[in-house]
Amino acid sequence: MKPSKPSLQEKIARLRASFVAQLPARLDEMQSHLTLLKADPVMNRVAAIELQRIFHSLKGTGHSFGFSELAEIAEEAETVAQQLTDSEDYLPANWSEQLTALQRRLLSQAQILAYADWSDQGQTPAPFFEMTDQVLMGSGQSRNLVYVCDDEPDQVGHLSYQLQCFGYQVCRFTDTATFHEAVLQQRPDAVIMDVHFPHGATAGMDTLAELKLITGQALPAIVLSGRNDFQARLSAVKAGCRAYFTKPARPLELVAALDEIMGRRVHEPYRVVIVDDEANVAQYHALILEEAGMSVCHLQHPNRVIEVLEDFNPDLVLVDVYMPECTGEELAALIRQYPEHVGLPIVYLSGETNRQKQFSAMQVGVEGFITKPVVPEELVAAVALRAERMRALRSLMARDSLTGLYNHTTTTEMIDNAVAQARRQQENLSLAMIDLDHFKSVNDTHGHLVGDQVLLALSRMLKHRFRTTDIIGRYGGEEFVVLLKGLSPVEAKKLVDELRANFAEVRFNAGEQAFHCTFSAGISGLPPHVRTEDLRMAADRALYVAKGAGRNCVKVDGANDEQ
Ligand code: GH3
Ligand code: MG
Ligand code: MG
Repeated sequence: MKPSKPSLQEKIARLRASFVAQLPARLDEMQSHLTLLKADPVMNRVAAIELQRIFHSLKGTGHSFGFSELAEIAEEAETVAQQLTDSEDYLPANWSEQLTALQRRLLSQAQILAYADWSDQGQTPAPFFEMTDQVLMGSGQSRNLVYVCDDEPDQVGHLSYQLQCFGYQVCRFTDTATFHEAVLQQRPDAVIMDVHFPHGATAGMDTLAELKLITGQALPAIVLSGRNDFQARLSAVKAGCRAYFTKPARPLELVAALDEIMGRRVHEPYRVVIVDDEANVAQYHALILEEAGMSVCHLQHPNRVIEVLEDFNPDLVLVDVYMPECTGEELAALIRQYPEHVGLPIVYLSGETNRQKQFSAMQVGVEGFITKPVVPEELVAAVALRAERMRALRSLMARDSLTGLYNHTTTTEMIDNAVAQARRQQENLSLAMIDLDHFKSVNDTHGHLVGDQVLLALSRMLKHRFRTTDIIGRYGGEEFVVLLKGLSPVEAKKLVDELRANFAEVRFNAGEQAFHCTFSAGISGLPPHVRTEDLRMAADRALYVAKGAGRNCVKVDGANDEQ
């Protein structure tokens, strides 16, 4: 039988156990520094600094894991050690006796902890999240199920078909009773509901209201109605409907509304780097963040930080303030030396409660201060808030403003990285260049704004059709690029060709006129190509062949075709 994954509680319990197991070694270390200090308090000032560091860390970790007695003794000891390090030549009275007494108390606490069954004292925080799925990621690849209910079969048929082109799974109903049954059998992700039916002027709304009563939850619904008056719209608002369209509805607008409901903005987990010399505490914080759906990279030694920032590309860095060799303040200043990391949020995570010290530590351009012991929800909220802002800023810079796809520069960088990675891991990848056919004439005939709608529709389709791990970019005006990971050119061709066929079916509206638009695509692959530049040129060549072959088709570089 597969062993079950340890729960958060179990993981935290293990971390606490490991902290308790390491206590004797820490206290031995404390003992040796104390001996040195007592032998010659002036010459051995370094020992005082070390002692302060040990007490400080015992205080922080102790609090984090709920060993408050231990943490309080460590805090007192830290204060004494602090006085020793602060004073130039004058030493506080009784320091030696005080430290000895505190040392004794710490040792006895360590013994109590070693023998106590502290694991079920209920000090471990209860599970604090139910939001993991939402926070983690959107619906990704799965096809969302949409029920369309309208008594006009032609309308429904046409609409369903268009929605399918955009990757929705659609079930059609022409009467409310069958629809009602179907919802009870399987709840859809969204509903597109007509208001007026032969048996009632508001039968559509009534059905939604009934279902809400029965299931206790409103269906995410979009109204499609022949009426455009205030009352009709108000009743839809009162019924909790999410959007309202008058007939004939434009499929593209409906798709946009559906996307909104599905939250199809795919949410990649926030990435956080934790720099903390205290492995146990860092793991504890990492657990909290991971539980909320974030990816965490823990660095125990700050010397690798720049490398990690490059590879892991975090949205935020959490830095411990007190670390041997390099303080959090120094580390933050060092990170800020790199122009590319000037905007990266850095947050201190520390037991420091002295406002003055906090303030001075913030002066190197740090975003905030989270005090240990942390309250899990607060840690998650503080990190998520700042990481989200970082994402938004990055996205402004990295994305094309019309389509929301990656812009040329970002796409090129990401493709370079993906190609290097595929080469290292000896995996396939394919590159598809997509270019709209005769797009100039779309603009010339219908105007630039209509042209923009076509670009938007294609980008939306690209986003829906490919995996979140694929890279989708707007390369130029009406040229798009998709990098498909793990696929050979022939496999990629199949996917792109399906998309091509669907896209050709999408009906665009320009005033009274309706029209269709197509694209051509060229595909290249690794292998045989290994360099980004070669891949790009090969895909371009194939695209050129596709255009030459009459457009509205997909060609693979180097293939003699018909495969
Ligand atoms: P082909 O099938 O050979 O690709 O023909 P084409 O007309 O699509 O190609 P061409 O490169 O001659 O024209 C591309 C057009 O795309 C010209 C330009 O006005 C239009 N375009 C580029 N960017 C945008 C944009 O952001 N919005 C709109 N509406 N049109 C754009
Ligand atoms: Mg072109
Ligand atoms: Mg074109």
